[in-house]
Amino acid sequence: MLATTSPISYRQLPLRLYQIGPKFRDELKTRFGLMRAKEFLMKDMYSFDVSEETARETYSVVSAAYDRLFKQLDVPFVKVNAATGMMGGSVSHEYHYVSPVGEDTLLQCSSCGFAGNSEVLETDPQSTACCPSCKSSDLKEVRGVEVAHTFLLGDRYSKPLGATFLNTSGKPQSLVMGCYGIGITRVIAAALEVLSSDQELHWPRLLAPYDVCLIGPKQGSKEQPAAEVIENELLQTIGDICGHEELLHDDRKDLTIGKRLLEGKRLGHPLTIVVGAKSVQQDSPRLEVHLSNGEKLELDLSEALNLVAEHNHHKKVLLNGRFIRENDESISRSVGHQL
Ligand SMILES: [Zn+2]
Repeated sequence: MLATTSPISYRQLPLRLYQIGPKFRDELKTRFGLMRAKEFLMKDMYSFDVSEETARETYSVVSAAYDRLFKQLDVPFVKVNAATGMMGGSVSHEYHYVSPVGEDTLLQCSSCGFAGNSEVLETDPQSTACCPSCKSSDLKEVRGVEVAHTFLLGDRYSKPLGATFLNTSGKPQSLVMGCYGIGITRVIAAALEVLSSDQELHWPRLLAPYDVCLIGPKQGSKEQPAAEVIENELLQTIGDICGHEELLHDDRKDLTIGKRLLEGKRLGHPLTIVVGAKSVQQDSPRLEVHLSNGEKLELDLSEALNLVAEHNHHKKVLLNGRFIRENDESISRSVGHQL
């Protein structure tokens, strides 16, 4: 596109263009659920700069945004120096979730957490035996699912395609490019793959479809009339705390609480609150609260609401990135630790 409209002025640079759209791949064997589907959603971005130097600045700005996003999702990830053979360019990184179903083999240093694509490390004779970062020889092989990548392309494509800009002296010069991608559906599928068990889904806090699932009393049970008063009150107060769109009300009252709870657990809601027989007992009314880690709590009304507020607060902390300043020391180190 920029080759056909070339040359643009240096004043229009840097230019960053992105799109989010579906991609199709004629996968012979779709497998691992959503992980390798024939249709998936990608975010692509291309950057255009006047020089290698400013292109590197763009690269570090975009990389920092990607780092922030993956920290916000709060799923352990590794960022690896990637092979640049196919797309060319001098700098490239990949973001991986580590999972046995991953297609890529990564080598990870047990002491400092540094990770590299095994293709890259093996092509460098210096690195086959030791970690390029701390020189430890304790490298272990792990499998990675690639969820994002960044490339500094230089003029590898702009030069042959004639994508140029007019520099300050009015002379045409090749644009210096970068390209960046996030596999949006793949992030969701791989995060679920990493966090979930065979029986239950576990969501990254920010990606869970709902924060709270509320299960009311069964139709015709003797606690129904009194419990429904509490249920209705909770519908309002929980919605006020976390937003009504974050509250799933399972009002299929013809089903037992047990049946609805089982389904709720499979879906992995961060908090499931049950308003059952215990909620109307005289001495100390209790709500059953199920956490996505399998923990079950019996709480009074205000304790349960506090838990909802706490969850909501954690989400806000992740969203506004306040956590980043606390542990910005080194991603690879903390990630290496978690693995
Ligand atoms: Zn190391």
